[in-house]
Amino acid sequence: MTTAGNPVPTTATRAAPERPDRINLLGLTRARLENYFQEIGERPFRAVQLLKWIHQQHVTEFSTMTNLSKALRTRLEQDAAIQLPEIVSTHESIDGTTKWLVRVASGNCIEMVFIPDEPRGTLCISSQVGCALNCTFCSTARQGFNRNLSSAEIIAQVWLARDLLENGVANKRAITNIVLMGMGEPLLNFDNVVDALDLMLEDNANGFARRRVTLSTAGVVPRIDALRQRCPVSLAVSLHAPNDRLRDELVPLNKHYPIRELLAACRRYVQDDAREKVTFEYVLLDGVNDSPTHARELAALLADVPAKVNLIPFNPFPQSGYQRPPPQVIDAFRDILMGKKIITITRKTRGQDIDAACGQLAGEVQPRSRRMRLRKAASAAPTGRATVTLGAERLQS
Ligand code: SF4
Repeated sequence: MTTAGNPVPTTATRAAPERPDRINLLGLTRARLENYFQEIGERPFRAVQLLKWIHQQHVTEFSTMTNLSKALRTRLEQDAAIQLPEIVSTHESIDGTTKWLVRVASGNCIEMVFIPDEPRGTLCISSQVGCALNCTFCSTARQGFNRNLSSAEIIAQVWLARDLLENGVANKRAITNIVLMGMGEPLLNFDNVVDALDLMLEDNANGFARRRVTLSTAGVVPRIDALRQRCPVSLAVSLHAPNDRLRDELVPLNKHYPIRELLAACRRYVQDDAREKVTFEYVLLDGVNDSPTHARELAALLADVPAKVNLIPFNPFPQSGYQRPPPQVIDAFRDILMGKKIITITRKTRGQDIDAACGQLAGEVQPRSRRMRLRKAASAAPTGRATVTLGAERLQS
């Protein structure tokens, strides 16, 4: 592991040796583990024992699991493994934010971030290697898309961060909240994300309260309904524009699921719980979506949705083409929303010095398609509007 910035107390970066021939039990939910044990002739209660060893005791060696029979331990050593990805580097911001680069299979790296803000400690994790949705203000989008993370790779981020922060010998810091706001669109990796959510909420595993886990989506409408049925954690929506014309441009997914359909799904999501609200994230881009007219339009849009708004002053990255609005513009936007009785918070920028702020996560992604490789190369070009040639194709940034 290499470390940039201040070293983080480290008890483990435990990259288990790759064992592709063995089943990785790390990402299996209680129900899946019960099935697994039944299939190998064991009683289902073994699942709870194993969950506690893995997710609460942070034990990865079967030989240490003393309440399992010797015969079962031997069987598990032959057939199964608890495999964790490797932490490649740790970067610590002057404001206490920590970002880790995590190597996952197939030569890619994803990023996860811990944001301490007493009494909270929020872990932001990734759900995909890169992202295919191509939101114009997002650094992850410039990396292209490689693949979905497995449920093991998603829950491993929680495991690793807890091990480093909560079991560390010094500067112990608790993770109180988890947000799926890192790299990727979680609802496009639905099954694996839901399995990982189960392991976050499961009392015998991580035991987080439902409201302390937030899934952020760009607006995959049918999957919002599916999430409500399957695992209704707190919902955040990357809105970023108050009308379809502008949102089509900033969040191209809007062309498939326009705002009216998205807000209807949001209303359905919280309809059974009068205390529940959907968080709408709105990145403020100078001269693009930050005018008083936009603020009034947004307030009207959210008038009949149980909503709170997170305003995110844009965090610049190379070749983004956007700027952050001046503070008085941000304040004026917030005041208009609050004047319409919409709970509005301007998010503090955290971890900007280590490129860990919202929208800045990049990881190391091997884009799968040629078009994405071209786009990534174009966005990495040193000058403003660069033209990059790769093979016979051209793409302008
Ligand atoms: S903002 Fe989210 S959904 Fe949009 S490209 Fe970035 S990671 Fe994907």
